[in-house]
Amino acid sequence: MTIRHHLTAEILLSYAAGNLAEGWSLAVATHLALCPDCRAREVQFSAIGGEALEDAVPAELSDGALAACFALIDLDEVDLNGEAQQPLPPVIAGTPTLPEPLRGYVGGDADSVRWSSVGGGIRQCLIKVSGEAKARLLYIPAGDKVPQHGHRGLELTLVLSGSFADGAMQFHRGDIEVADEQVNHTPTAGPGEPCICLAVTDAPIVFKSLLPRLVQRFVKI
Ligand SMILES: [Zn+2]
Repeated sequence: MTIRHHLTAEILLSYAAGNLAEGWSLAVATHLALCPDCRAREVQFSAIGGEALEDAVPAELSDGALAACFALIDLDEVDLNGEAQQPLPPVIAGTPTLPEPLRGYVGGDADSVRWSSVGGGIRQCLIKVSGEAKARLLYIPAGDKVPQHGHRGLELTLVLSGSFADGAMQFHRGDIEVADEQVNHTPTAGPGEPCICLAVTDAPIVFKSLLPRLVQRFVKI
């Protein structure tokens, strides 16, 4: 399994800071369960955050603060501590369709999902999470299109089974699409088998404050 679509640094950094609502964290953690590359990056971010937060001094949020923060971080120069250099756990062969922690939320693997129809052969299963983010499993029959939609906020879509195409991009198991309000798309399930994916979106009314909140903790560094 080669994962080609990964989490952004901003999202991983916020996750490492423990600063994401439960729905986002579920999508990130489930991607990490499938993606050794992002697990390694998350370990680095955690090491950076842990050291920096020890000396944290609150400061005002300013325009460009996040970009300035990243400009100061050169991962190649980071002196990782012993904990961060521990070998990463291997991905276990023959893992179920739904890795942990997602499987725990569902109460079993894909065969125990209680789907409900949303029309056109597409099914969903809402996942109970706290906070403003909404999480659901989607089942898209092979070759079917999800009706075109834009976003008023962030959307994370993690493929668990099958595949989908979004324009010229292909997403397979483990791939995660990070779509924001700039994206207006018509994802289409690949041929041959249905696509099962985890989709997390935020309520539009909350989104305006989401990005500042995501970066706030690290801007305080
Ligand atoms: Zn990844």
